[in-house]
Amino acid sequence: NTRLFIAEQNEPAVTSDGVKISVELNAGLNFDKESEAVLSMIDGVGLYRTEVEFMMHNTFPTELEECIHYEEFLKSFASTRVRMRTMDVGGDKPLPYMPFNEANPFLGWRGIRISLDKPDLLRTQFRAMLKANRKYENLEIMLPMVSSLEEVIKSKEILEQAYKEICEEYSSVVAHPKLGAMIEVPAAMFLLEDLAEYLDFFSIGSNDLTQYTLAVDRNNPRVSKLYDCFNPAMVRVLWRLYRICVQELNRPLAMCGEMAGDPLGAILLISMGYRELSMNYTEIARIKYVLRRVDTKELSDIFKKAIKLSDTAAIKQMYVDYLKEKG
Ligand code: PEP
Ligand code: MG
Repeated sequence: NTRLFIAEQNEPAVTSDGVKISVELNAGLNFDKESEAVLSMIDGVGLYRTEVEFMMHNTFPTELEECIHYEEFLKSFASTRVRMRTMDVGGDKPLPYMPFNEANPFLGWRGIRISLDKPDLLRTQFRAMLKANRKYENLEIMLPMVSSLEEVIKSKEILEQAYKEICEEYSSVVAHPKLGAMIEVPAAMFLLEDLAEYLDFFSIGSNDLTQYTLAVDRNNPRVSKLYDCFNPAMVRVLWRLYRICVQELNRPLAMCGEMAGDPLGAILLISMGYRELSMNYTEIARIKYVLRRVDTKELSDIFKKAIKLSDTAAIKQMYVDYLKEKG
């Protein structure tokens, strides 16, 4: 019921028991005129997919081109925090001017792996981001597809080098952005303590994390019924991530995969304790409408029962029933 959702889209995402949820935007292109309207609906940009610009060019964009593009975006969202993710091509996102010929592209050359094999690309991207951020200082940087500590250490070295260069070039101390990693490869789940020593925050990419945890291609319709974040294995994965990142390591943990933009997925996350959800523009009004009607204590009680179940359908039914009850 779109009209109902729109009526409340600028209201804060506060649950019926008064808990504020950070509802954030996933973006890939400039929002231009829409950005003003979007701004009043969101608490931040939780994922800016920089690869979209790379995919629209015929060759790698120059540092200046990247910088102009990022600056425009940071300016449009100047009043809020913007998490830009470094180029995440490969897998299902080919680049016309960088051919991949791989039998298993999802297990191949993608995300941060490409950026570290072509460090000039990453350096250029960091430099463009840091320059673009000079005026607005609202940038945070996120690394995609992290599967080892070395990737984070190397990326951070390149970032620090770029930071030094930019400070020298402008003879001034520019803002130092926070650095975080996407959690979308199961290996990263077992490295959280190590990663946290180098990073300020984590953001889960459930699209890939589900695919890699359940060994189900995220784009293959034949197995799409197996692709389910209510699978007890996924529920336990998400619960483990919350416990370790938030409760033990005290690091902010967001969800920027598609499950955050699905009402059932969103309330599953809320029931575990998640408070930062980032989603596509088209999902925001509806999710806020739902969040404003749920009670975190009631959801937490549901989760205590759900975590003991081993059956996807049974777990999901508990949340379906709860949403029905809330209208
Ligand atoms: C994800 O994997 O959940 C994610 C947000 O990244 P992308 O969909 O761009 O791979
Ligand atoms: Mg991903």
